[in-house]
Amino acid sequence: MVQTQQKYDKLKNFVGGQWIEAISGKYENVPNPATGEILAEVPISSKDDLDLAVNAANKAFKQWSRTPVPKRARIMFHYQQLLQKNHDELAKIITKENGKTLQDSYGEVQRGIECVEFAAGAPELMKGEVLPDIANDIESAMYRYPIGVVGGITPFNFPMMVPLWMFPLAIVCGNTFVLKPSERTPLLARKLAELLQEAGLPDGVLNIVNGAHDVVNGLLEHDNIDAISFVGSQPVAEHVYKTAAAHGKRVQALAGAKNHSIIMPDCDIEKTVDGVIGAAFGSAGERCMACSVVVTVGDVSDRFIDALLDKTDQIKTGNGLDDYTSLGPLIRDSHRDRVVDYIDKGEKENAKLLRDGRVEMRQHDKGYFLGATIFDYVEKDMKIWRDEIFAPVLSIVRAKSLEEAIEITNASDFANGAVIYTRSGKAVREFKENIDAGMVGVNINVPAPMAFFPFSGWKNSFYGDLHANGKDGVNFYTRKKMVTSRWF
Ligand code: NAD
Repeated sequence: MVQTQQKYDKLKNFVGGQWIEAISGKYENVPNPATGEILAEVPISSKDDLDLAVNAANKAFKQWSRTPVPKRARIMFHYQQLLQKNHDELAKIITKENGKTLQDSYGEVQRGIECVEFAAGAPELMKGEVLPDIANDIESAMYRYPIGVVGGITPFNFPMMVPLWMFPLAIVCGNTFVLKPSERTPLLARKLAELLQEAGLPDGVLNIVNGAHDVVNGLLEHDNIDAISFVGSQPVAEHVYKTAAAHGKRVQALAGAKNHSIIMPDCDIEKTVDGVIGAAFGSAGERCMACSVVVTVGDVSDRFIDALLDKTDQIKTGNGLDDYTSLGPLIRDSHRDRVVDYIDKGEKENAKLLRDGRVEMRQHDKGYFLGATIFDYVEKDMKIWRDEIFAPVLSIVRAKSLEEAIEITNASDFANGAVIYTRSGKAVREFKENIDAGMVGVNINVPAPMAFFPFSGWKNSFYGDLHANGKDGVNFYTRKKMVTSRWF
Protein backbone atom coordinates (compact mmCIF):
# COMPACT_ATOMS: atom_id res chain seq x y z
CA MET A 1 0.00 0.00 0.00
CA VAL A 2 1.36 3.44 -0.94
CA GLN A 3 1.24 5.85 1.94
CA THR A 4 0.91 9.56 1.27
CA GLN A 5 3.56 11.31 3.28
CA GLN A 6 2.85 14.69 4.79
CA LYS A 7 5.57 17.09 3.67
CA TYR A 8 5.41 19.27 6.74
CA ASP A 9 5.44 18.86 10.51
CA LYS A 10 2.41 18.54 12.73
CA LEU A 11 3.67 20.34 15.82
CA LYS A 12 3.13 19.09 19.36
CA ASN A 13 3.00 20.61 22.82
CA PHE A 14 5.91 20.17 25.22
CA VAL A 15 4.60 18.97 28.57
CA GLY A 16 6.62 17.49 31.42
CA GLY A 17 9.58 16.88 29.10
CA GLN A 18 7.49 15.01 26.47
CA TRP A 19 6.21 16.16 23.07
CA ILE A 20 2.50 15.33 23.06
CA GLU A 21 -0.34 15.83 20.59
CA ALA A 22 -2.86 18.51 21.47
CA ILE A 23 -6.13 17.09 22.82
CA SER A 24 -8.06 19.85 21.00
CA GLY A 25 -7.36 18.21 17.62
CA LYS A 26 -7.49 21.68 16.01
CA TYR A 27 -4.66 22.87 13.75
CA GLU A 28 -3.72 25.94 11.73
CA ASN A 29 -1.26 26.15 8.82
CA VAL A 30 2.05 27.96 9.26
CA PRO A 31 3.08 29.35 5.87
CA ASN A 32 6.51 30.67 4.89
CA PRO A 33 5.63 34.35 4.30
CA ALA A 34 8.12 34.61 1.42
CA THR A 35 6.66 31.74 -0.60
CA GLY A 36 3.30 30.76 0.87
CA GLU A 37 4.65 27.19 1.21
CA ILE A 38 3.25 25.42 4.29
CA LEU A 39 6.03 24.81 6.83
CA ALA A 40 4.01 23.15 9.57
CA GLU A 41 0.64 22.75 11.22
CA VAL A 42 0.39 24.33 14.64
CA PRO A 43 -2.07 23.03 17.24
CA ILE A 44 -4.69 25.47 18.45
CA SER A 45 -4.77 24.01 21.93
CA SER A 46 -7.65 24.07 24.37
CA LYS A 47 -7.80 24.86 28.07
CA ASP A 48 -7.53 21.09 28.74
CA ASP A 49 -4.17 21.11 26.93
CA LEU A 50 -3.11 24.07 29.04
CA ASP A 51 -4.12 22.29 32.26
CA LEU A 52 -1.73 19.45 31.46
CA ALA A 53 1.17 21.89 31.07
CA VAL A 54 0.32 23.93 34.18
CA ASN A 55 0.06 20.71 36.21
CA ALA A 56 3.48 19.59 34.94
CA ALA A 57 5.00 23.01 35.76
CA ASN A 58 3.39 22.99 39.19
CA LYS A 59 4.71 19.53 39.93
CA ALA A 60 8.24 20.43 38.80
CA PHE A 61 8.29 23.62 40.89
CA LYS A 62 8.79 21.88 44.23
CA GLN A 63 12.13 20.37 43.33
CA TRP A 64 13.33 23.00 40.87
CA SER A 65 12.80 25.90 43.26
CA ARG A 66 15.01 24.08 45.80
CA THR A 67 17.74 23.27 43.26
CA PRO A 68 20.86 25.26 44.23
CA VAL A 69 21.18 28.45 42.18
CA PRO A 70 24.70 27.63 40.83
CA LYS A 71 23.33 24.33 39.53
CA ARG A 72 20.47 26.14 37.78
CA ALA A 73 22.95 28.65 36.34
CA ARG A 74 25.19 25.86 35.03
CA ILE A 75 22.35 24.68 32.78
CA MET A 76 22.26 28.18 31.29
CA PHE A 77 25.99 28.03 30.54
CA HIS A 78 25.44 24.77 28.69
CA TYR A 79 22.36 26.20 26.92
CA GLN A 80 24.40 29.22 25.77
CA GLN A 81 26.96 26.89 24.16
CA LEU A 82 24.26 24.88 22.39
CA LEU A 83 22.59 28.03 21.07
CA GLN A 84 25.96 29.25 19.75
CA LYS A 85 26.57 25.90 18.09
CA ASN A 86 23.16 26.05 16.42
CA HIS A 87 23.36 29.74 15.46
CA ASP A 88 22.99 29.05 11.70
CA GLU A 89 20.08 26.68 12.03
CA LEU A 90 18.24 28.97 14.44
CA ALA A 91 18.68 31.94 12.09
CA LYS A 92 17.36 29.94 9.13
CA ILE A 93 14.27 28.82 11.07
CA ILE A 94 13.53 32.47 11.96
CA THR A 95 13.86 33.60 8.34
CA LYS A 96 11.65 30.79 7.09
CA GLU A 97 8.81 31.31 9.52
CA ASN A 98 9.02 35.08 10.03
CA GLY A 99 10.36 36.31 6.68
CA LYS A 100 13.06 38.71 7.96
CA THR A 101 16.43 38.63 6.17
CA LEU A 102 19.03 36.12 7.26
CA GLN A 103 21.21 38.99 8.45
CA ASP A 104 18.40 40.25 10.71
CA SER A 105 17.84 36.70 11.95
CA TYR A 106 21.53 36.28 12.84
CA GLY A 107 21.28 39.49 14.83
CA GLU A 108 18.17 38.24 16.60
CA VAL A 109 19.85 34.95 17.57
CA GLN A 110 22.74 36.93 19.03
CA ARG A 111 20.40 39.14 21.07
CA GLY A 112 18.65 36.01 22.36
CA ILE A 113 21.92 34.39 23.40
CA GLU A 114 22.79 37.53 25.37
CA CYS A 115 19.67 36.99 27.50
CA VAL A 116 20.87 33.50 28.39
CA GLU A 117 24.30 34.92 29.27
CA PHE A 118 22.63 37.42 31.61
CA ALA A 119 20.56 34.65 33.21
CA ALA A 120 23.71 32.59 33.79
CA GLY A 121 24.73 35.26 36.33
CA ALA A 122 21.93 34.09 38.64
CA PRO A 123 24.11 33.46 41.73
CA GLU A 124 24.98 37.15 41.74
CA LEU A 125 21.51 38.32 40.68
CA MET A 126 19.65 36.24 43.29
CA LYS A 127 21.64 37.53 46.26
CA GLY A 128 19.71 39.26 49.01
CA GLU A 129 20.72 42.06 51.38
CA VAL A 130 21.53 42.20 55.10
CA LEU A 131 21.77 45.02 57.62
CA PRO A 132 23.26 43.48 60.80
CA ASP A 133 22.12 46.21 63.18
CA ILE A 134 18.80 47.86 62.40
CA ALA A 135 18.55 48.34 66.20
CA ASN A 136 20.53 47.07 69.17
CA ASP A 137 21.11 43.34 68.59
CA ILE A 138 18.56 43.21 65.79
CA GLU A 139 19.39 42.13 62.23
CA SER A 140 17.28 42.48 59.10
CA ALA A 141 17.84 40.44 55.93
CA MET A 142 16.14 40.26 52.55
CA TYR A 143 16.07 36.93 50.69
CA ARG A 144 14.82 36.33 47.15
CA TYR A 145 12.52 33.42 46.30
CA PRO A 146 10.88 32.35 43.05
CA ILE A 147 7.19 33.15 42.60
CA GLY A 148 5.91 29.85 41.21
CA VAL A 149 4.61 29.05 37.72
CA VAL A 150 5.05 31.83 35.16
CA GLY A 151 3.05 32.06 31.92
CA GLY A 152 4.77 33.64 28.89
CA ILE A 153 2.91 34.88 25.79
CA THR A 154 5.01 36.03 22.85
CA PRO A 155 4.57 37.82 19.47
CA PHE A 156 5.55 36.72 15.95
CA ASN A 157 8.15 39.36 15.24
CA PHE A 158 11.00 38.07 17.45
CA PRO A 159 10.40 34.32 17.77
CA MET A 160 13.80 33.79 19.43
CA MET A 161 14.67 36.96 21.31
CA VAL A 162 11.36 37.61 23.04
CA PRO A 163 10.84 34.10 24.50
CA LEU A 164 14.48 34.35 25.67
CA TRP A 165 13.70 37.65 27.41
CA MET A 166 11.40 35.54 29.55
CA PHE A 167 12.06 31.90 30.33
CA PRO A 168 15.86 31.77 30.95
CA LEU A 169 15.65 34.43 33.67
CA ALA A 170 12.37 33.13 35.10
CA ILE A 171 13.73 29.58 35.27
CA VAL A 172 17.14 30.44 36.64
CA CYS A 173 15.37 32.37 39.42
CA GLY A 174 13.71 29.06 40.40
CA ASN A 175 10.32 29.38 38.68
CA THR A 176 8.79 26.93 36.25
CA PHE A 177 7.36 28.18 32.98
CA VAL A 178 4.54 27.67 30.47
CA LEU A 179 5.23 29.36 27.12
CA LYS A 180 2.53 30.16 24.55
CA PRO A 181 4.51 31.17 21.45
CA SER A 182 2.93 33.09 18.58
CA GLU A 183 0.86 30.70 16.50
CA ARG A 184 2.33 32.47 13.46
CA THR A 185 5.96 31.55 14.35
CA PRO A 186 5.89 28.39 16.47
CA LEU A 187 8.85 26.49 14.97
CA LEU A 188 11.67 28.30 16.69
CA ALA A 189 10.09 27.72 20.12
CA ARG A 190 10.28 23.97 19.50
CA LYS A 191 14.01 24.21 18.78
CA LEU A 192 14.58 26.36 21.86
CA ALA A 193 12.91 23.74 24.06
CA GLU A 194 14.82 20.85 22.46
CA LEU A 195 18.14 22.56 23.11
CA LEU A 196 17.26 23.46 26.69
CA GLN A 197 16.33 19.84 27.35
CA GLU A 198 19.68 18.81 25.86
CA ALA A 199 21.38 21.33 28.18
CA GLY A 200 20.01 19.33 31.12
CA LEU A 201 16.82 21.10 32.17
CA PRO A 202 14.68 18.74 34.28
CA ASP A 203 11.27 17.72 32.91
CA GLY A 204 8.37 20.07 33.52
CA VAL A 205 10.46 23.20 34.21
CA LEU A 206 9.76 24.59 30.72
CA ASN A 207 6.53 23.65 28.95
CA ILE A 208 5.10 24.85 25.64
CA VAL A 209 1.43 25.04 24.77
CA ASN A 210 0.83 26.10 21.17
CA GLY A 211 -2.35 27.95 20.36
CA ALA A 212 -4.11 31.29 20.35
CA HIS A 213 -6.71 33.19 22.40
CA ASP A 214 -8.01 30.22 24.42
CA VAL A 215 -4.57 29.39 25.75
CA VAL A 216 -3.83 33.06 26.48
CA ASN A 217 -7.09 33.58 28.35
CA GLY A 218 -6.60 30.25 30.10
CA LEU A 219 -3.21 31.41 31.38
CA LEU A 220 -4.58 34.77 32.54
CA GLU A 221 -7.33 33.14 34.59
CA HIS A 222 -5.58 29.96 35.78
CA ASP A 223 -5.50 29.44 39.56
CA ASN A 224 -2.05 27.85 39.37
CA ILE A 225 -0.33 30.55 37.32
CA ASP A 226 1.40 33.15 39.50
CA ALA A 227 2.78 35.66 37.01
CA ILE A 228 2.37 36.62 33.36
CA SER A 229 4.99 38.01 30.99
CA PHE A 230 3.40 39.26 27.77
CA VAL A 231 4.80 40.91 24.64
CA GLY A 232 2.51 41.87 21.76
CA SER A 233 0.19 44.54 20.40
CA GLN A 234 -1.31 47.32 22.54
CA PRO A 235 -4.97 46.20 22.70
CA VAL A 236 -3.98 42.65 23.67
CA ALA A 237 -1.39 43.92 26.20
CA GLU A 238 -4.07 46.04 27.88
CA HIS A 239 -6.46 43.07 27.98
CA VAL A 240 -3.71 40.81 29.37
CA TYR A 241 -2.72 43.33 32.04
CA LYS A 242 -6.25 43.99 33.25
CA THR A 243 -7.41 40.36 33.16
CA ALA A 244 -4.32 38.83 34.76
CA ALA A 245 -4.22 41.53 37.47
CA ALA A 246 -7.93 40.95 38.19
CA HIS A 247 -7.02 37.29 38.73
CA GLY A 248 -4.37 38.22 41.29
CA LYS A 249 -1.30 37.74 39.12
CA ARG A 250 1.87 39.73 38.80
CA VAL A 251 1.95 41.10 35.22
CA GLN A 252 4.35 42.76 32.83
CA ALA A 253 2.82 43.47 29.41
CA LEU A 254 5.02 45.03 26.73
CA ALA A 255 2.95 46.60 23.97
CA GLY A 256 2.98 48.38 20.60
CA ALA A 257 4.90 51.45 19.52
CA LYS A 258 5.16 54.44 17.19
CA ASN A 259 8.78 55.52 17.45
CA HIS A 260 9.85 58.97 16.25
CA SER A 261 13.30 60.01 15.01
CA ILE A 262 14.10 63.73 15.10
CA ILE A 263 16.43 64.92 12.33
CA MET A 264 18.30 68.14 13.15
CA PRO A 265 19.78 70.42 10.46
CA ASP A 266 23.34 69.78 11.74
CA CYS A 267 23.16 65.97 11.49
CA ASP A 268 25.47 63.86 9.33
CA ILE A 269 23.01 63.31 6.46
CA GLU A 270 24.54 60.13 5.07
CA LYS A 271 24.79 58.33 8.42
CA THR A 272 21.35 59.60 9.42
CA VAL A 273 19.77 58.26 6.24
CA ASP A 274 21.46 54.88 6.74
CA GLY A 275 20.20 54.81 10.32
CA VAL A 276 16.62 55.75 9.40
CA ILE A 277 16.49 53.20 6.57
CA GLY A 278 17.73 50.42 8.85
CA ALA A 279 15.22 51.33 11.55
CA ALA A 280 12.22 51.98 9.28
CA PHE A 281 12.54 49.13 6.80
CA GLY A 282 14.71 46.52 8.61
CA SER A 283 12.67 43.41 9.52
CA ALA A 284 10.02 44.90 7.18
CA GLY A 285 9.22 47.50 9.84
CA GLU A 286 7.87 44.71 12.05
CA ARG A 287 9.86 45.77 15.12
CA CYS A 288 8.58 47.41 18.28
CA MET A 289 11.65 49.66 18.07
CA ALA A 290 11.18 50.44 14.35
CA CYS A 291 11.33 54.08 13.32
CA SER A 292 7.86 54.76 11.92
CA VAL A 293 7.90 58.57 12.04
CA VAL A 294 10.68 60.98 11.12
CA VAL A 295 10.37 64.58 12.32
CA THR A 296 12.57 66.87 10.25
CA VAL A 297 13.54 70.18 11.84
CA GLY A 298 13.87 73.39 9.81
CA ASP A 299 15.71 73.42 6.50
CA VAL A 300 17.04 69.83 6.72
CA SER A 301 13.84 68.38 5.20
CA ASP A 302 14.60 68.55 1.47
CA ARG A 303 18.26 67.48 1.80
CA PHE A 304 17.29 64.58 4.03
CA ILE A 305 14.36 63.46 1.86
CA ASP A 306 16.38 63.52 -1.40
CA ALA A 307 19.09 61.33 0.15
CA LEU A 308 16.48 59.08 1.78
CA LEU A 309 14.66 58.43 -1.52
CA ASP A 310 17.92 57.71 -3.36
CA LYS A 311 18.97 55.09 -0.81
CA THR A 312 15.49 53.60 -0.43
CA ASP A 313 15.40 52.88 -4.17
CA GLN A 314 18.42 50.58 -3.67
CA ILE A 315 16.46 48.31 -1.29
CA LYS A 316 15.84 44.86 -2.80
CA THR A 317 12.62 43.14 -1.82
CA GLY A 318 12.70 39.34 -1.79
CA ASN A 319 13.05 36.07 0.10
CA GLY A 320 15.13 36.67 3.23
CA LEU A 321 17.18 33.53 2.51
CA ASP A 322 18.59 35.15 -0.67
CA ASP A 323 21.82 37.11 -0.26
CA TYR A 324 20.68 40.14 -2.26
CA THR A 325 17.51 40.71 -0.21
CA SER A 326 17.34 43.71 2.10
CA LEU A 327 13.55 43.71 2.66
CA GLY A 328 11.63 40.50 3.35
CA PRO A 329 7.86 39.93 3.32
CA LEU A 330 5.24 40.85 5.89
CA ILE A 331 4.06 38.06 8.15
CA ARG A 332 0.69 37.31 6.50
CA ASP A 333 -1.40 38.47 3.54
CA SER A 334 -4.11 39.60 6.01
CA HIS A 335 -1.57 41.90 7.68
CA ARG A 336 -0.44 43.23 4.30
CA ASP A 337 -4.10 43.96 3.36
CA ARG A 338 -4.41 45.97 6.56
CA VAL A 339 -1.23 47.91 5.72
CA VAL A 340 -2.47 48.62 2.18
CA ASP A 341 -5.66 50.04 3.77
CA TYR A 342 -3.42 52.40 5.78
CA ILE A 343 -1.64 53.52 2.60
CA ASP A 344 -5.05 54.27 1.03
CA LYS A 345 -6.04 56.16 4.19
CA GLY A 346 -2.82 58.19 4.11
CA GLU A 347 -3.59 59.30 0.55
CA LYS A 348 -7.17 60.18 1.49
CA GLU A 349 -5.88 62.17 4.48
CA ASN A 350 -3.79 64.20 2.00
CA ALA A 351 -0.35 63.10 3.12
CA LYS A 352 2.01 63.18 0.12
CA LEU A 353 2.97 59.66 -1.01
CA LEU A 354 6.65 59.99 -1.96
CA ARG A 355 7.31 56.29 -2.46
CA ASP A 356 4.67 53.61 -3.00
CA GLY A 357 5.63 50.10 -1.84
CA ARG A 358 2.58 48.66 -3.60
CA VAL A 359 4.69 48.75 -6.80
CA GLU A 360 7.01 46.00 -5.45
CA MET A 361 3.97 44.20 -4.04
CA ARG A 362 2.63 43.73 -7.57
CA GLN A 363 6.01 42.42 -8.81
CA HIS A 364 5.78 39.28 -6.65
CA ASP A 365 3.23 36.61 -7.51
CA LYS A 366 3.98 34.68 -4.30
CA GLY A 367 4.64 35.80 -0.74
CA TYR A 368 3.35 38.75 1.24
CA PHE A 369 5.72 41.46 -0.02
CA LEU A 370 5.34 45.21 0.24
CA GLY A 371 8.05 47.68 -0.77
CA ALA A 372 9.30 50.57 1.33
CA THR A 373 6.63 53.28 1.51
CA ILE A 374 7.20 56.91 2.46
CA PHE A 375 4.68 59.67 3.20
CA ASP A 376 5.61 63.36 3.53
CA TYR A 377 3.59 66.20 5.09
CA VAL A 378 2.04 63.89 7.66
CA GLU A 379 0.10 65.69 10.40
CA LYS A 380 -0.75 64.79 13.97
CA ASP A 381 -4.47 64.39 13.27
CA MET A 382 -3.88 61.66 10.65
CA LYS A 383 -4.49 57.99 11.37
CA ILE A 384 -1.19 57.04 9.69
CA TRP A 385 0.59 59.17 12.31
CA ARG A 386 -1.46 57.91 15.25
CA ASP A 387 -1.66 54.12 14.77
CA GLU A 388 1.05 51.50 14.83
CA ILE A 389 1.10 50.17 11.23
CA PHE A 390 3.91 47.64 11.83
CA ALA A 391 5.22 47.58 8.28
CA PRO A 392 7.83 49.30 6.06
CA VAL A 393 5.76 52.51 6.02
CA LEU A 394 7.52 55.70 7.12
CA SER A 395 5.78 59.01 7.84
CA ILE A 396 7.62 62.33 7.65
CA VAL A 397 6.36 65.23 9.77
CA ARG A 398 7.92 68.67 9.32
CA ALA A 399 8.68 70.82 12.38
CA LYS A 400 10.09 74.35 12.64
CA SER A 401 12.11 73.82 15.81
CA LEU A 402 13.43 71.10 18.14
CA GLU A 403 10.84 72.21 20.70
CA GLU A 404 8.04 71.58 18.19
CA ALA A 405 9.59 68.22 17.15
CA ILE A 406 9.65 67.10 20.80
CA GLU A 407 6.06 68.26 21.28
CA ILE A 408 4.94 66.25 18.21
CA THR A 409 6.79 63.14 19.45
CA ASN A 410 5.37 63.48 22.96
CA ALA A 411 1.81 63.74 21.57
CA SER A 412 1.89 60.04 20.61
CA ASP A 413 0.01 57.64 22.89
CA PHE A 414 2.99 55.28 22.54
CA ALA A 415 6.41 55.86 24.08
CA ASN A 416 8.71 52.94 23.47
CA GLY A 417 11.67 54.61 21.76
CA ALA A 418 12.74 57.98 20.33
CA VAL A 419 15.93 59.04 18.57
CA ILE A 420 17.70 62.30 17.74
CA TYR A 421 20.26 62.76 14.96
CA THR A 422 22.47 65.79 15.61
CA ARG A 423 26.02 66.96 16.33
CA SER A 424 24.87 69.39 19.03
CA GLY A 425 25.35 68.53 22.69
CA LYS A 426 22.83 71.22 23.63
CA ALA A 427 20.17 69.70 21.36
CA VAL A 428 20.88 66.24 22.80
CA ARG A 429 20.40 67.53 26.33
CA GLU A 430 17.16 69.32 25.48
CA PHE A 431 15.89 66.14 23.76
CA LYS A 432 17.00 63.76 26.51
CA GLU A 433 15.45 65.85 29.28
CA ASN A 434 12.13 66.58 27.59
CA ILE A 435 11.30 63.51 25.55
CA ASP A 436 8.56 61.19 26.85
CA ALA A 437 9.97 57.83 25.84
CA GLY A 438 11.48 54.96 27.75
CA MET A 439 14.31 54.06 25.35
CA VAL A 440 16.14 56.98 23.85
CA GLY A 441 18.84 57.04 21.16
CA VAL A 442 21.42 59.63 20.14
CA ASN A 443 22.63 59.04 16.56
CA ILE A 444 21.64 55.35 17.01
CA ASN A 445 18.98 53.86 14.80
CA VAL A 446 17.43 51.26 17.14
CA PRO A 447 18.19 52.08 20.80
CA ALA A 448 17.10 48.67 22.14
CA PRO A 449 18.89 48.02 25.46
CA MET A 450 20.94 44.86 25.96
CA ALA A 451 19.75 42.07 28.26
CA PHE A 452 21.36 43.48 31.42
CA PHE A 453 19.25 46.69 31.19
CA PRO A 454 15.44 46.94 31.32
CA PHE A 455 13.44 47.12 28.08
CA SER A 456 11.66 50.16 29.38
CA GLY A 457 8.73 51.35 27.27
CA TRP A 458 6.47 54.08 28.68
CA LYS A 459 2.82 55.13 28.26
CA ASN A 460 0.76 52.75 26.08
CA SER A 461 3.89 50.83 25.12
CA PHE A 462 3.99 49.12 28.53
CA TYR A 463 1.56 47.93 31.18
CA GLY A 464 2.94 47.01 34.59
CA ASP A 465 5.70 48.15 36.95
CA LEU A 466 8.73 45.96 36.38
CA HIS A 467 10.08 45.78 32.83
CA ALA A 468 11.57 42.77 31.06
CA ASN A 469 15.35 42.10 31.41
CA GLY A 470 17.99 43.56 33.71
CA LYS A 471 17.39 43.94 37.44
CA ASP A 472 13.73 44.69 36.74
CA GLY A 473 13.47 41.19 35.26
CA VAL A 474 15.04 39.64 38.37
CA ASN A 475 12.68 41.60 40.62
CA PHE A 476 9.71 40.53 38.48
CA TYR A 477 10.59 36.84 38.69
CA THR A 478 11.37 36.82 42.43
CA ARG A 479 9.56 37.74 45.62
CA LYS A 480 11.32 39.04 48.66
CA LYS A 481 11.19 37.67 52.16
CA MET A 482 12.32 39.97 54.99
CA VAL A 483 13.69 38.22 58.06
CA THR A 484 14.22 40.33 61.19
CA SER A 485 16.08 38.51 63.99
CA ARG A 486 17.06 39.01 67.60
CA TRP A 487 18.87 36.33 69.56
CA PHE A 488 18.61 36.30 73.35
P1 NAD B 1 -0.40 40.18 18.95
O1 NAD B 1 -0.87 41.07 20.04
O2 NAD B 1 -1.31 39.93 17.80
O3 NAD B 1 -0.06 38.71 19.54
C1 NAD B 1 0.78 38.55 20.66
C2 NAD B 1 0.35 37.29 21.40
O4 NAD B 1 -0.99 37.47 21.90
C3 NAD B 1 0.31 36.05 20.50
O5 NAD B 1 0.86 34.97 21.20
C4 NAD B 1 -1.17 35.86 20.18
O6 NAD B 1 -1.53 34.52 20.04
C5 NAD B 1 -1.87 36.47 21.39
N1 NAD B 1 -3.13 37.14 21.02
C6 NAD B 1 -3.39 37.88 19.90
N2 NAD B 1 -4.64 38.37 19.94
C7 NAD B 1 -5.18 37.96 21.11
C8 NAD B 1 -6.45 38.17 21.72
N3 NAD B 1 -7.39 38.90 21.15
N4 NAD B 1 -6.67 37.60 22.93
C9 NAD B 1 -5.71 36.85 23.54
N5 NAD B 1 -4.50 36.62 22.98
C10 NAD B 1 -4.23 37.17 21.79
O7 NAD B 1 1.02 40.72 18.49
P2 NAD B 1 1.87 40.26 17.22
O8 NAD B 1 1.18 40.75 15.99
O9 NAD B 1 2.20 38.82 17.33
O10 NAD B 1 3.21 41.08 17.47
C11 NAD B 1 3.41 42.38 17.06
C12 NAD B 1 3.11 43.38 18.16
O11 NAD B 1 3.96 43.14 19.28
C13 NAD B 1 3.39 44.82 17.74
O12 NAD B 1 2.37 45.63 18.24
C14 NAD B 1 4.72 45.14 18.39
O13 NAD B 1 4.96 46.51 18.63
C15 NAD B 1 4.57 44.38 19.67
N6 NAD B 1 5.88 44.12 20.26
C16 NAD B 1 6.24 44.87 21.34
C17 NAD B 1 7.48 44.69 21.92
C18 NAD B 1 7.90 45.54 23.09
O14 NAD B 1 8.93 45.26 23.67
N7 NAD B 1 7.14 46.55 23.48
C19 NAD B 1 8.38 43.75 21.39
C20 NAD B 1 7.98 42.98 20.30
C21 NAD B 1 6.71 43.18 19.73
